[in-house]
Amino acid sequence: MNRPRLFRNGRLFDGVNFIDHTDLRVDAAGKQIELGTGLPVRPEEEVVDLNQRWLIPGLVDCHVHFREPGLVRKEGYATGSLGALHGGVTTVLEIQNNPPLLTSAKLLQRKLQSLQGVSRVDYGCYGNLIEESLAELPAMAPWTPAVKCFLGCSTGLSGISDEGVIRRLFAAAAAAGLKIVAHCEDDGLMEQAKAQLKGEEARRHDLRRPRIAEVESIRQALRIANEVGASLHVFHLSTAEGAGLVVGAAGRGQAATGTTAPHYLLWDAEQAAKRPENRLKVNPSIKYQEDQQGLASMVAQGSLQGVGTDHAPHPMEEKARVYEKAPSGFPSIDLLLPLTFAVHDRHSIALESCLAAVTRLPADEFGLVDKGRLAPGADADLVILDPTAKRQVEEKALPSKAKWSPYHGLRLRGFPEQVFLRGQRVFADCRALGPPRGRSLFGP
Ligand SMILES: [Zn+2]
Repeated sequence: MNRPRLFRNGRLFDGVNFIDHTDLRVDAAGKQIELGTGLPVRPEEEVVDLNQRWLIPGLVDCHVHFREPGLVRKEGYATGSLGALHGGVTTVLEIQNNPPLLTSAKLLQRKLQSLQGVSRVDYGCYGNLIEESLAELPAMAPWTPAVKCFLGCSTGLSGISDEGVIRRLFAAAAAAGLKIVAHCEDDGLMEQAKAQLKGEEARRHDLRRPRIAEVESIRQALRIANEVGASLHVFHLSTAEGAGLVVGAAGRGQAATGTTAPHYLLWDAEQAAKRPENRLKVNPSIKYQEDQQGLASMVAQGSLQGVGTDHAPHPMEEKARVYEKAPSGFPSIDLLLPLTFAVHDRHSIALESCLAAVTRLPADEFGLVDKGRLAPGADADLVILDPTAKRQVEEKALPSKAKWSPYHGLRLRGFPEQVFLRGQRVFADCRALGPPRGRSLFGP
């Protein structure tokens, strides 16, 4: 049981709007029970005086790789979830993209249970949608928010490009009532692009993994999903055109959704190419100004289902290899809330839209009705922050394991002061408090 708390006189973001001079009451079970102005203090309550500092829902990061089990030398839930708290994140939805893949209910169940007492944030894990998991999908459904399909190769996994196979996988997911979350980049188009590149250009990630590879892969995935009646979510949208296809399909009534990532809103291909040590080598590749702007306007309009980090840590000694041998991906969950402010500051998008993209929208997208909002009945996952306080990113001080960051040296704002998970204060002054209290959000 928790200490019941009254958060008093804050500027609250409830998942949709800001409300000034407002109080929030949290009960001993870690639930929000009352929002209002001038709420009376009850004798058993601890009062947290906000003085108009901000109180927002804990962030929901719907796309992370913590690499446990199998590659804990690169991350693991102990460090990854601490990084999450540092970034204001209290819920992660995680993708296993290294062996052992999650291809059965038993494997999912075992993984979810093994993280109890390890994870500092609440968690769910996507199952893997591959041939081996087909017969298992109905049994997997209660244990997972969705199943992940790689249409296009990425670190450690080859992509599926055979149309017949995609159709079979999508139809099986639909029959099991499972949403598909997809990495869309067409392998054939990437091979073609690569074959035409020479010299310096052959080391340009945006040219080897060009726009058209994402766009055509999304077009194909949407078409097949529509034909077999599958619900499709496209992850880490990097092109305005590809994202537009998803939004367009949704507008025609198809069950099509998608998210982008902070790096597609904050960097462009020229910048990515110039960064040393392949720091911004990531799949899909970082694209161009027009893509940034197009994606930003979709975030502003709320036509995407949010922004997830794609936190994908690798040690610097691997990233600093020659381009061809360096793995794709980088850590970023430690900074999700400050990066959300950076997106707002860069693109002049309403802060409400930016914050909704990392709280309510992804929570709604993956059925987490108790997460990502301030409302009676919801979990008291909360972040207190002073939006004016700036801090320089010091990569070595970030809690996740890699100890380097493509955002190193930037001055950002919006770092969490305190974080609460289901009513418990779990993070303050850049340090974790108490034992890991994260829970699995899935199971029958
Ligand atoms: Zn990923």
